[in-house]
Amino acid sequence: MKCEHCDIVDRNTKAQILYEDEEVLVAVKDVVTTPGQITVFPREHFTILEMVPNKILQKCSIIANKVGAAVFEALGAQGTNIIIQNGLGAGQKVPHFSIEVIPRRESDGLNFQWQPKHLAEDEIDLVLKLLKEEADKINLKEELKKERKEVLEQISKNGKEVTVKDPETKTEMKVEQKNKEDYLLKSLRRIP
Ligand SMILES: [Zn+2]
Repeated sequence: MKCEHCDIVDRNTKAQILYEDEEVLVAVKDVVTTPGQITVFPREHFTILEMVPNKILQKCSIIANKVGAAVFEALGAQGTNIIIQNGLGAGQKVPHFSIEVIPRRESDGLNFQWQPKHLAEDEIDLVLKLLKEEADKINLKEELKKERKEVLEQISKNGKEVTVKDPETKTEMKVEQKNKEDYLLKSLRRIP
């Protein structure tokens, strides 16, 4: 399957890569809504938002935020639209999840606004009921517990002296098992 974002990863396009690491890329495409539009996407081909692992989604969001700040600085934008077109029905053109950062200026002629409309009472009730049923299934606590469990399993699986990578600075360090535990436990505490 031909995928525009995988093509950028493989350097098969005219798009310019501004940043890349082992998980995320930031690119400027040759066809954009407005000059300065920047695309942030995972290196791996995930079609839609729901398929992107939490860790990578988190990284994409942080990078999109930093890119937004850079756009303010470099292009003197007055604002940014940060957009995820998730699914065909939402106008997704490339079947590879991405976050678009679009620099905005007052009266730049772009129109991302839609007119709000009043819903009938029974329409509101029905939508609320359906959403509530789904929202009740969200269990963030369980998900975070699972992440912690995986890290703890990793600790107990490893030998005495191990190499760990600092998630922020990417520096590797060799530490004793006990210290590694401290280190990982510290990073676990950072998970809210
Ligand atoms: Zn792809």
